[in-house]
Amino acid sequence: MRALVFTKPSTVELLHVADPVPAPGETLVRVCAVGICGSELHGISSSDFRRPPLVMGHEFSGTTEDGRRVTANPLLSCGTCDLCTIGQDHLCRNRSIIGIHRAGAFAEYVAVPSAALHTLPDSMSFDTAALIEPLANAVHALNLAAPPPGARIAVLGAGTIGLMALLVARQYSTDVSVCDLAEDRLDVAVRLGAANTGPDLEGEFDVVIDAVGAAATHALSVLRLRPGGSAVWIGLLSGDAAFDGQHIVREEKRVIGSYCYTSAEFTHAVKLARDVPLDWATPFPLDDGVSIFTELMHGRHDVVKALLHP
Ligand SMILES: [Zn+2]
Ligand SMILES: [Zn+2]
Repeated sequence: MRALVFTKPSTVELLHVADPVPAPGETLVRVCAVGICGSELHGISSSDFRRPPLVMGHEFSGTTEDGRRVTANPLLSCGTCDLCTIGQDHLCRNRSIIGIHRAGAFAEYVAVPSAALHTLPDSMSFDTAALIEPLANAVHALNLAAPPPGARIAVLGAGTIGLMALLVARQYSTDVSVCDLAEDRLDVAVRLGAANTGPDLEGEFDVVIDAVGAAATHALSVLRLRPGGSAVWIGLLSGDAAFDGQHIVREEKRVIGSYCYTSAEFTHAVKLARDVPLDWATPFPLDDGVSIFTELMHGRHDVVKALLHP
């Protein structure tokens, strides 16, 4: 089969590779749509976390050999460790992720543990279904923030996760501000219901979602919080926390890390995807995967979300 393969730092190549062979308890999925994730664009500059050669791709939809239309929760948990037992399966001690720790969906086929599959509603397109995984990330971030109805919410970054955070935040409040340097992305945020947009963030907020993860946005997310407010960090650009710890103490501000989603939140995202506008992704054939991946890696931002069609 054809697959887009991470072969060495900052390099993906379209190669012919062997079809995956599903192990017992696994299902072969013919991939129809797969999203390119920001974590993949930034994550392949080194080979520390993702190890080449690797077929990446963890946001996907497709069909099974018996004709089911599916997506999959790519976060595989053991179900038996102390964290799985208390419902924190996204923090499983033995977790692995499709497309990171095993072959993913930048290919014609991907093998998936059958328990990770979710059947799609008939009316949902494969392109929409490929966005369920990033939507689930935002469901988790807002659950952690737990904004009261009508809260003042800000989202830093209008990439895919930022826009998903906007869509989920709009379920709680109409007062959602979105900040990004790219004007074309802010245009999408306005269309999706952002009350205020701009290159900088002014004012005070009950909740700030940092969907960038740079030192500057870490600092801004805490600075713009009201006393007692919550900053939720979901972006992974930099490890630099960039805030004054005493400020956190005196103002009782909370900084919460957000990683993936529980299996219950993924299930919720499958349902929510029917009700929120997810029509802003741009599909490309897998054969164009190398060029679009490379352009996005080098900062192309007119395409907010690229999907590949194998
Ligand atoms: Zn992702
Ligand atoms: Zn576990």
